[in-house]
Amino acid sequence: MVASVSLADPSDDSLAETPIENLVIVGSGPAGYTAAIYAARANLAPLMITGFQRGGIPGGQLMTTTHVENYPGFPDGILGPELMDRCKAQALRWGTKLVEADAESLDLSSRPYRLVTSEGETIMTHSVILATGASANRLGIIQEERFWSRGISACAICDGATPQFRKEQLAVVGGGDSACEEAVYLTKYGSQVHLIVRNDTLRASAAMADRVLANPAIRVHWNREVLEGLGEDWLSHIRLRDRTTGSTEELAVRGLFYAIGHTPNTELVQGQLELDERGYLVTRPGRPETSLEGVFASGDVADSEWRQGITAAGSGCQAALAAERWLSHHQLARQVERLSIEPELAGETQPTATSDANNFDAATLWQKGGYALRKLYHDSNKPLLVVYTSPSCGPCHVLKPQLKRVLNELEGRALGVEIDIEADPEIAQQAGVTGTPTVQLFFNKELQQQWQGVKQRSEFKTAIEALGAPRP
Ligand code: NDP
Repeated sequence: MVASVSLADPSDDSLAETPIENLVIVGSGPAGYTAAIYAARANLAPLMITGFQRGGIPGGQLMTTTHVENYPGFPDGILGPELMDRCKAQALRWGTKLVEADAESLDLSSRPYRLVTSEGETIMTHSVILATGASANRLGIIQEERFWSRGISACAICDGATPQFRKEQLAVVGGGDSACEEAVYLTKYGSQVHLIVRNDTLRASAAMADRVLANPAIRVHWNREVLEGLGEDWLSHIRLRDRTTGSTEELAVRGLFYAIGHTPNTELVQGQLELDERGYLVTRPGRPETSLEGVFASGDVADSEWRQGITAAGSGCQAALAAERWLSHHQLARQVERLSIEPELAGETQPTATSDANNFDAATLWQKGGYALRKLYHDSNKPLLVVYTSPSCGPCHVLKPQLKRVLNELEGRALGVEIDIEADPEIAQQAGVTGTPTVQLFFNKELQQQWQGVKQRSEFKTAIEALGAPRP
């Protein structure tokens, strides 16, 4: 049953000045962006909290995959991060407002609902779509970080076809339906698949278990736990422990896929909305309504079973339509007027051209490639942010616009260069870069600071400002 919520005390005027949004969408995966596209096209000007560091990166799990080949409309497949860039552009084109921060708290005790972001901003809203997703569980074995995306993955379906896995020995950890399905799936690519099960039975359904046990390309290792990943640049072995005897062995595999369950990102609403015993949001069967009126769920946060990009997108559409109906029914929808009926086309984003002797410009805030790096490193007296990226690195997609924003805000006091480590491997090697994104801050030809992974904009800005470089 969907519970109604009392309206906030009208005498509480502490937030009287805060405008009330029609709809806040929390989460920016395929569910969130699809909800945003539908709500924005309904002239509701939805506000999206993209998430930043909690529950995975903005854009969701597709940001950490390479080729997505099962999303309809892309016959040759599309890179996960590119798909999410396109969803974002489509949502923005129709008038979605983005807040690039985490949702720190969400108070659903009275209406309008109240959300506080990690930047300290308070947002009031009539309705909410929760699209916060689920995070694939990790084992936390020794060297996991080192080999993450270099042999270790949480999604065989997403990453199995990667060239490095073709005709190689591969391993899947887990004994549920996902592990069995993924083991069978990987036999299409690997020469042999090892299923590592921590006890002596499979939790999977009988039909799925039979399929695995009858497949000669799959070898089940019972009562085994994975202790460690081994290798140089890419995973080459895993160390296993026999839980019955305690003995250890090394198994030569180039891929290790986790299928040990997911944890839904529902901390925000714990104790406020009905959750199932595994922490997933409970909705009305086949519908997006949660246990509270005006609060809807879409995507993996309410789906422990299908967990595909396309099913998440479909449920995002349902949630937006349901929210629109609910807002209209309660006469809460405040429709915005568009400046023009047809918004400007989003167009294709143009990648930054690699600088050379012809197009290099010492005053351009953001350039790309080894030529620009050498010129600026030797000749410029400004702080220099160098970001090392790779084409399929999802977090790099998240970080680059943040860095560009910092440089814009600093109005020319610092410059940025992007190095694609696939195009310039020797530069990356010389700089000691082991993963992407890595950011190095140079000043007066000296390395001042280095960051790995996605960080808050303020960290970079503070570090640059601390160098005391003059305004141009
Ligand atoms: P499950 O929670 O069903 O299974 C998780 C598996 O991982 C279990 O075998 C568990 O072992 C194992 N595991 C958990 N933690 C560890 C650990 N630290 N080390 C080693 N092993 C570990 O998750 P699934 O993702 O497999 O399935 C989720 C739901 O989706 C289920 O309802 C499933 O039926 C459904 N599903 C259905 C499919 C289908 O019908 N085609 C396909 C995929 C999923 P243990 O058994 O010892 O607890």
